[in-house]
Amino acid sequence: MFSSLSDSLDKSFRNLRGVGKISEKNITDALRDIRIALLEADVEFGVAKELIARVKDASMGEEVLKSIKPGEQIVKLFQDELTRVLGGDNVPLDLNPPARILMVGLNGAGKTTTSAKLARRLQKEGRRPLLVACDLYRPAAVDQLVTLAGQVNVPVFAPERGETDVIKVAREAISFGEREGATVLIFDTAGRQEIDEKLIKELIELNKFLQPKETLLVADAATGQQAVSVATHFDEAVGITGIVLTKLDGDARGGAALSMREVTGKPIKYAGEGEKLDQLIEFHPSRMADRILG
Ligand code: GDP
Repeated sequence: MFSSLSDSLDKSFRNLRGVGKISEKNITDALRDIRIALLEADVEFGVAKELIARVKDASMGEEVLKSIKPGEQIVKLFQDELTRVLGGDNVPLDLNPPARILMVGLNGAGKTTTSAKLARRLQKEGRRPLLVACDLYRPAAVDQLVTLAGQVNVPVFAPERGETDVIKVAREAISFGEREGATVLIFDTAGRQEIDEKLIKELIELNKFLQPKETLLVADAATGQQAVSVATHFDEAVGITGIVLTKLDGDARGGAALSMREVTGKPIKYAGEGEKLDQLIEFHPSRMADRILG
């Protein structure tokens, strides 16, 4: 993965050996290669530009090391910056009582699956999760959550068919959770193919009612240039506290991770690496940086 970009950078850097320090003039070609790599990984254009400007500043005046190839040196500088950006101030989930986690995101991103995966993880850590089905638009989504909850052996609160009041469902779920001794409630919400006003309005109301300590945006690693608008919309509406990047087992280079992290400033907490319910891992910034640079 790592070698292709540094190989091509070595070409750009043919003339760099022996120059002593990296300067504006000799870094321009290399940065063009890096820009292409970022855009190919689907990092949003503005985000790529901003990152490149930052690395350019950081690398200016650096000694050109004789021990490693110049291309590798620039890739390393870039990788360090991406790792720093992707890592940031990632802290564990706030699960102080009343621990409530609101799961949001577009349809198909992996919200329902991730809710079950997260419940399983928390259960393994000794907590008592309750899954709550708050997607009142698609009965199939409720059924799916009930099935997945059964597979991870976690209790689930599902609304009656035809129920349309999401706040009522949330209120009943909280009472149910108290009766059952649940210590953390995970709310799976309705998604859409695209952001729509009705969805956002309902989410805002649910968020106001629940006051969750954690609101996780579930996003497909293959989200392309729309990553910025998706992340911004959800963050502005309900104030996300973190991101879960799904389908990292796929081919996508995952530039969306970088775009979303940059524009929201919110950490990527977990990564989904498959359809199985134990395939939710902690996010590794340096692995992701490697993957994005290609
Ligand atoms: P939702 O509409 O956001 O609730 O999405 P779902 O949870 O229904 O997931 C949509 C599809 O993506 C399902 O077929 C899941 O099995 C699949 N999926 C979710 N997470 C992952 C993942 O990390 N890797 C892979 N390969 N598939 C996933």
